[in-house]
Amino acid sequence: MSQIITLSLSPRDAANVAAYTACAARELRVREDNIALLRIVKRSVDARRGALKVNLTLEAFIDNEPMPAPLHFDYPSVAAASSVIIVGAGPAGLFAALRLIEMGIKPIIFERGKDVVERGKDIAQIQRNNGIDPDSNYAFGEGGAGTFSDGKLFTRSKKRGDYNRALQRLVYHGAAEEILYEAHPHIGSDRLPRIIADMRRRIIECGGEIHFSSRVSGFIVKQGRVKGVRLGDVTVEAQAVIVATGHSARDIYEVLHSDGIRLEAKPYAMGVRIEHPQALINRIQYHGSEQMEYLPAASYSLVEQVGGRGVYSFCMCPGGFIVPAMTDAAESVVNGMSPSRRNSPYANSGFVTEIRLEDFEHLRPKYGELAGLAFQRELEQVARAHSEGRQTAPAQRVADFVSGRASASLPSCSYVPGIVPSRLDEWMPRFMSSRLREAIRIFDRRMHGYLTSEAVVVGVESRTSTPVRIPRDKMTLMHPEVEGLFPSGEGAGYAGGIISAALDGERVAEAVATFIRG
Ligand SMILES: Cc1cc2nc3c(=O)[nH]c(=O)nc-3n(C[C@H](O)[C@H](O)[C@H](O)COP(=O)(O)OP(=O)(O)OC[C@H]3O[C@@H](n4cnc5c(N)ncnc54)[C@H](O)[C@@H]3O)c2cc1C
Repeated sequence: MSQIITLSLSPRDAANVAAYTACAARELRVREDNIALLRIVKRSVDARRGALKVNLTLEAFIDNEPMPAPLHFDYPSVAAASSVIIVGAGPAGLFAALRLIEMGIKPIIFERGKDVVERGKDIAQIQRNNGIDPDSNYAFGEGGAGTFSDGKLFTRSKKRGDYNRALQRLVYHGAAEEILYEAHPHIGSDRLPRIIADMRRRIIECGGEIHFSSRVSGFIVKQGRVKGVRLGDVTVEAQAVIVATGHSARDIYEVLHSDGIRLEAKPYAMGVRIEHPQALINRIQYHGSEQMEYLPAASYSLVEQVGGRGVYSFCMCPGGFIVPAMTDAAESVVNGMSPSRRNSPYANSGFVTEIRLEDFEHLRPKYGELAGLAFQRELEQVARAHSEGRQTAPAQRVADFVSGRASASLPSCSYVPGIVPSRLDEWMPRFMSSRLREAIRIFDRRMHGYLTSEAVVVGVESRTSTPVRIPRDKMTLMHPEVEGLFPSGEGAGYAGGIISAALDGERVAEAVATFIRG
């Protein structure tokens, strides 16, 4: 039997294999050369008070104890098996495909965007301010919105087994083993594309299909049953369709809505991206410790009720970049990502407030259940009107945003297409800007220095979650009115992040298998 121990170490010792192996041997009362394998099973930083500590939980295999089995997933050939259509190759679509293969079903994926390599070129064009391809951008293309992201792998899912399996699946396809034990695992935008491409190769090798530049434009539904999908003039038949199109596929909501397939408006969140110098966040979070160099770029997570509404930091990217995440040139939308080493000099985070149904009630007569989406689009277009062109984004120093002043100049910012001074405090809906401003004051009391003119808010962070839900039955996971139609992932309203979308994709794949096997 292996033995598990937890050591509380200085950051320097925790970063040094020889140092923590010596500590482990002492703790286990064995000689170092009796330890055949020592592996980290959990690592977390304790920066709460006093001296900084790193808690390392280690699994030790002493002498001739059997070694852990290597990771393995069984993916059989499904070339001749019954098939299921998946719309969208984001985390939900890809994990659904791999799970279907495990269960002996052939996935056929239609993805509107390009493969990761070609998509990378379009993203470089966006960063150079050369315009947006509406089918190939930070939201659309192989791997979905998760590909050129931070790759933070958190979830609130209570089912630890499923969570671990999703992480193991990523490691099996090339992610670093660290993600299995870090308290806050992340992959990084530089490594994600290779992992996604490896998943695609696996799907094809097993007999599944992935079709890029293939935008699904409609669903074929007869007598309450899905019969397939339309791609322009072409129709493709199937007895089950998984809709995993993400929250930016507004055309899909519009098609479903105009076809009379029931959708539901839901609350969501919008705000800004806030960016500070990373050195400032490190100083605040690590209390100026001498051993900061041995620790990862510091992060934070803040939440507060202001005027009866939640205001919170979201998708924080230490050592990262703010990126243009719009899918249409008429919008300004920002998000954040970071490379695996998290080594940019900037710390950015989404900073958002709840948007409730009553906030867009006035748009219901015109847009029905798509009113929240219309409200979201309006804000993105207003933000666009306050930028100077192409993908530049409107911005204001944080101190000016809070005091209601124009920024005469802006600090340096990671946003490559460029930021322009703008009165976000004035043009955002008042109920949003006043809550964000108050929350910054409150957060400054918890993280002294958070409210500073060295920091900047950039507009707008509007795609944190979907404003529309595609309903589904709790047991069968099918749309309650369309047999064989399986909404999945973030766009359908059942996930909020890479891992939860992936887990939802797996769950839906299992429901599809039950459905087609009768
Ligand atoms: C810049 C950025 C950084 C992020 N960072 C993180 C992070 O660090 N951690 C985290 O957990 N989450 C992060 N997210 C959010 C995360 O990426 C999403 O929650 C997740 O990708 C949702 O997965 P999904 O499969 O449901 O949808 P998506 O990833 O949105 O995938 C949907 C796919 O469907 C395709 N599609 C859409 N319409 C059609 C159509 N009509 N026909 C065919 N295909 C279609 C799209 O092209 C897309 O590939 C980030 C998002 C962005 C944009």
